Amino acid sequence: MRVCFVRAQHLAWWVLGCLTVGIWLGTGGLAVLPVSTGSTRGISGRTIVLDAGHGGIDPGAVSAKGVLEKEITLAIAKELERLLSRAAVFVIMVRHGDYDLADSSEAHLLNRKRQDLERRVFVAEEAQADLYISIHANYFPASVWSGAQTFYYENDQASERLAKAIQAELVKRLGPNTRVAKAGNFRVLRDTSMPAALVEVGFLSNPREAELLADAAYQKRVAEAIFAGLYNYYHEQP
Ligand SMILES: [Zn+2]
Repeated sequence: MRVCFVRAQHLAWWVLGCLTVGIWLGTGGLAVLPVSTGSTRGISGRTIVLDAGHGGIDPGAVSAKGVLEKEITLAIAKELERLLSRAAVFVIMVRHGDYDLADSSEAHLLNRKRQDLERRVFVAEEAQADLYISIHANYFPASVWSGAQTFYYENDQASERLAKAIQAELVKRLGPNTRVAKAGNFRVLRDTSMPAALVEVGFLSNPREAELLADAAYQKRVAEAIFAGLYNYYHEQP
């Protein structure tokens, strides 16, 4: 029943998209796209799950100045949600506030994390989503490392193409970065049945990058880069 509801809403979004994309193109709203041909036909009508990493009692990584990964990931996910919605994509947010998906009664942290991740995957499976995008920020003991990096589950060709499309735009739009898309054994990548990518948007252990990641204008640029990558994924031939 839930799935039927989601699918009906999906169709409604697609129809709405067909009606509104033309108007929107005229406003210059597609300026963030990598090409100027305008059409969003390939991406419009898709169902994309956005997973803002961590939340609630799980802050994720914390920078030296106290920037919390869970806040960065949610801010970027919300910005990306806005961009995708304007391109008539049906967006499902795994979370829209400061919480995780585990039972509040579950006090054991490892059980809680497992339950949280299982439910993130379940959200996408239940909706039969077309793509799963997980957003995180990186942390490493040595503060010198920086740069966004996108991960996919190994030997999954569609996910690899997706991760490479996102990584190319992150590199192009966010400055010097020699990192490439890489295979990673993350649960949300391993357990999702649709193409999936996990974006580490930068290193909170690098003071300069942590400052950038906390800045709303930079968060918007990160979201625009991911959006452009998603657009390319649907509009470029494999
Ligand atoms: Zn994380």
